[in-house]
Amino acid sequence: MTEAVQYRPDQKYIDSCSYHEAGHTVVVVALGMPLRNRGVHIDTMGNGISYYWFRLPGDPNNTPDDIAERERTIISTEAGIVAQKKFYPDCPYGGNFYDRDQNIKLLDEMYPNRNDFFEAQQKCYEESVRLVNLHWPAIEALARALLAEPLAIRTNDAEGQWSNDTVERWLDGNRVIAILSEFQLQPSIRNESLGKLLNAITPQSIPCLGFGEAGPAFTPLHHYN
Ligand SMILES: [Zn+2]
Repeated sequence: MTEAVQYRPDQKYIDSCSYHEAGHTVVVVALGMPLRNRGVHIDTMGNGISYYWFRLPGDPNNTPDDIAERERTIISTEAGIVAQKKFYPDCPYGGNFYDRDQNIKLLDEMYPNRNDFFEAQQKCYEESVRLVNLHWPAIEALARALLAEPLAIRTNDAEGQWSNDTVERWLDGNRVIAILSEFQLQPSIRNESLGKLLNAITPQSIPCLGFGEAGPAFTPLHHYN
């Protein structure tokens, strides 16, 4: 049995969440995936969320398009913790529980064979690292811009709770586009009203819980090292 202990993360961890969300967002753009109007958000407790379109687990189709969509999702999802660790190498795992959980489900849908699974996981991870390094100036610019935002009152997200905080910092989709357009990236926003993009890609949000939250705190999941 585990105990849910409420840790207060250190300030560097809280700041590193901005790099985590910026990592997702910039790599999404680099992979040609559309953003959502709701942009990127962090709270003051080590939680954050980035809104963009990605492949959700649950659709068993496995055409080349489905595989490409899942791989793009996995690479951009993994980019969160990769960027966070680049900024804060000693930051604990645990905050990327939902990210890693989702990636494992997507890999399972493609690779029932364990060797294939691990090979694909490693390949996607290496691509996340490559893209985070390649686009680090853009990730830094977005993360710093988000951290420089004033605190605003946080309202609950109808799609799901990602924070218990009463305040947040956030940038809407158009601000994200303005920041990233200075880095030879071509971000786009796809409106929710346009419906599904490909087979199953769905407007969704990835909550990135801080390690101080109750639940899977400090659970070492499937580390790559
Ligand atoms: Zn994340």
